[in-house]
Amino acid sequence: MRVAVVGAGVVGLAAAAALLDADHDVLCLDRTGPMAERSTGSSRIFRLAHGSADLVALAREARAGWRRWSEAAGRPLVHDVGCLVSGADTLAWTAAMRKAGAPYETVGADARIPARRGPDVALLDTTGGVIDAEGTGAHLTRRVGAAFQTRVVYLLEERGSGARVHTPEGAVDADAVLIAAGAGTSSLAAQVGLYTPTVLAHHVRFTFATTRTGPLSAWIDQSSGRMATYQHMARPGRWAVGGLLDHAATAWEAGRAEATRAAREAVLDYVRVHLDGVVPEVLDEVYCTTMAGLGDGFHLRRRGPFTAVYGDNLFKFAPLLGDLLARAVTEGTEEKVDYV
Ligand SMILES: Cc1cc2nc3c(=O)[nH]c(=O)nc-3n(C[C@H](O)[C@H](O)[C@H](O)COP(=O)(O)OP(=O)(O)OC[C@H]3O[C@@H](n4cnc5c(N)ncnc54)[C@H](O)[C@@H]3O)c2cc1C
Repeated sequence: MRVAVVGAGVVGLAAAAALLDADHDVLCLDRTGPMAERSTGSSRIFRLAHGSADLVALAREARAGWRRWSEAAGRPLVHDVGCLVSGADTLAWTAAMRKAGAPYETVGADARIPARRGPDVALLDTTGGVIDAEGTGAHLTRRVGAAFQTRVVYLLEERGSGARVHTPEGAVDADAVLIAAGAGTSSLAAQVGLYTPTVLAHHVRFTFATTRTGPLSAWIDQSSGRMATYQHMARPGRWAVGGLLDHAATAWEAGRAEATRAAREAVLDYVRVHLDGVVPEVLDEVYCTTMAGLGDGFHLRRRGPFTAVYGDNLFKFAPLLGDLLARAVTEGTEEKVDYV
């Protein structure tokens, strides 16, 4: 089949690579370049730990895919340092891990995290860790190769049994189109009668120097009385922290500059008060849009030759998503599938 993939973030590239592996004729288009928007930056957290046993099982499938990708890339794309979960979701996520038969441990103040005071009790997802996002992008970009072109897609239309993809450089006809355009998905999907969430929010992650050496676990902290955060070693000597601020601070209407200022202030405060061995000076920031209130999981919508995918926190699922989307696009899927 001739398949057009709109978007070369980690999701579009993973799907394009899987489609090429299955010998389809693929054109992957991105308005900016590979890994430029939500997939940008050096690292991400991988975890099996989720709030439902179904998502834990899907993350296990994704982990097997990360192993395959690492072998093909000739280097580990996930560093198995573990992922610690503390606070509000700990019990529910532990129950989901148990139900899915996934390996985990229960740890406390001895947790390998740069906290002034460790949690009383926490879930250690021993299979979790840190994804090398840059390495993943390089690997996928190599795999997709000449099937990638920098072109903005401004219109999608159904033509006979297939589709026409319009770009300023001309139109491309395809048997099927995958819309994996991140923040651009909803406006393209709406053109072909598919609804995906339209409300965007701002999110910023900050990187600090750390004096801590040795492997530290990635950490999702939802302890009561403080801002929920996710944290990990972005590279040796660098600790990345993202804070989950309240809706008013991150709403689209707040504007990127104001949302970034608020996030920087809140995360710096958190680092000063709660972390140990992390220098409270921002060295780097990674900005992206998110879809307000979506949480974990992912969603497929299909109409005629068009399939759209959306979700937050998709990086960890990328190898699974690539295979699943390649099948959905070429073999067909239900009109609406929610993996939650
Ligand atoms: C700071 C931060 C921390 C995160 N932490 C985690 C984490 O720990 N674990 C995790 O799993 N996930 C995490 N995520 C989320 C994860 O990175 C994203 O869900 C994932 O990268 C989304 O990939 P994507 O391919 O869907 O979107 P994108 O990477 O945004 O790709 C979509 C692409 O579509 C292109 N595009 C849009 N419109 C058009 C158009 N009209 N024509 C052509 N091209 C178009 C864009 O240029 C873009 O490159 C984090 C994200 C950020 C930014």
